[in-house]
Amino acid sequence: MDPFIRALIAVVGAERVLSDPADMAPYLTDWRGRYRGVARAVVCPESTGEVAAVVRLCAGHEVPIVPQGGNTGLCGGATPGADGEAIVLALGRLNRIRDIDADNNTIVVEAGCTLAAVQTAAVEAGRLFPLSLASEGSCTIGGNLSTNAGGVQVLRYGNTRELVLGLEAVLPDGRVWDGLRGLRKDNTGYDLKQLFIGAEGTLGVITAAVLKLYPAIHQRATAWVAVPDPVSAVHMLGLMRRHCGDRVTAFEIVGRSALDLVLAHIPGSRDPLLGRPEWSVLIELSDPAESADTRTLLEAALSHAVDEGLACDAVVANSLAQASALWALRENISEAQRLEGVSIKHDVSVPVSRIPDFLDRARQRLTQMWPDIRIVAFGHIGDGNLHYNLSKQAAEANAAFVGRTSEANRIVHDLVASLGGSISAEHGLGQLKRDEILRYKPAVEMELMRSIKRTLDPQGLMNPGKVLDVTVRAGRAN
Ligand code: FAD
Repeated sequence: MDPFIRALIAVVGAERVLSDPADMAPYLTDWRGRYRGVARAVVCPESTGEVAAVVRLCAGHEVPIVPQGGNTGLCGGATPGADGEAIVLALGRLNRIRDIDADNNTIVVEAGCTLAAVQTAAVEAGRLFPLSLASEGSCTIGGNLSTNAGGVQVLRYGNTRELVLGLEAVLPDGRVWDGLRGLRKDNTGYDLKQLFIGAEGTLGVITAAVLKLYPAIHQRATAWVAVPDPVSAVHMLGLMRRHCGDRVTAFEIVGRSALDLVLAHIPGSRDPLLGRPEWSVLIELSDPAESADTRTLLEAALSHAVDEGLACDAVVANSLAQASALWALRENISEAQRLEGVSIKHDVSVPVSRIPDFLDRARQRLTQMWPDIRIVAFGHIGDGNLHYNLSKQAAEANAAFVGRTSEANRIVHDLVASLGGSISAEHGLGQLKRDEILRYKPAVEMELMRSIKRTLDPQGLMNPGKVLDVTVRAGRAN
């Protein structure tokens, strides 16, 4: 047996070192099936101590490490490369809720806890952990932190970065950094946790975190609203906030073709409105006060929106089941697209005010090039974040079209950049956008990122080939 594998087994036990191809297979392909990798082994530690021992061992043998949580990432960040040198460090067994301090409004969780498990633990303590993504049953807190995940409540609570008070991480040399402080005020130097958040596993392994909790929600109201166009959607967001303040928790836009895909592929889906509107928004208000009447508030705001010509038609959910059905239409878009087949995907952000401009100009430029293009646009318009996916109307024309991804990227990403936006709003860079980002980030910013990488990971063993355009292996030139 390979002595390195034998050493891994000595640390975590034989049953938690997978080296049989069939056992490893689920860890070697990403959620979309776009990336396939090869690994020396998949290692499943159960404690921070075991993670540290495995990382130390890898440092000693110069073996690269690909951290993996729920493997729901959309940029190939958790999939190893094709050279078969790396191990996949699968963190799903590191899944204890270590502590809940209801008075401090904090929860301490290990990296492999699923997001849904953390949400449930918060509810059981009479609190809310507000991060919410369609993948929450499978994605892990470690993955959420490492990608700085966004989701549907960023508008009210911020993205993952804003929900973290403290962090524990294993550094690339195997040392453990215990930064698990549950403090809202701590001005004692650099905020190191922020380095690991959004680093996509390139600077170390996150093993635990102190997360912020919020008051539990007692009243909620949800509506599906047809809007004349995206400009009206943006103005309606302003109107909702004027009328409902911070209770506006979610504000999502769904284009007609995105909704049509869900209606076609997800059994039990129903179009909530007649008239097949080209654009709809899904709005949710929520309030911790038991006495709050969010439904009346939402209806009043919607009636103002209709009066001002910002909304054409609306349905307000009458029950939890109806609200869930409306949410399912939004949350099943990614799955419906997967079932429909390949497409060219973009996860972009621009200032909220520039969204209509982006949608107009992108459509114009893309249809000039490909008159039969199908644009599937939807997403977190309240955060200026759109998922903007392209395919051909005829399925058989699609495979060839996907071969022209870089031409489509050039149109979409150049436009985003010209509007002051970002080519990766919430999914990260991973392998997918590692090279693309070089065109858009200032050279100085890339060089700062490389310096941080070299300082923390001089051997270049942490998730090589992801995020940064260089490998920083010891003794090798960049
Ligand atoms: P993985 O996919 O396992 O890993 C993601 C990255 O993090 C990789 O680079 C990996 O190396 C690194 N990593 C994982 N764990 C650790 C760790 N403990 N320490 C260091 N590095 C680590 N994302 C959004 O932001 N918003 C959405 O609304 C959203 N919706 C989605 C809907 C669907 C249906 C799907 C499939 C995905 C969606 N995603 C969304 C993307 C994905 O769920 C998130 O990126 C999520 O945060 C990834 O978590 P994960 O545990 O699956 O991470």
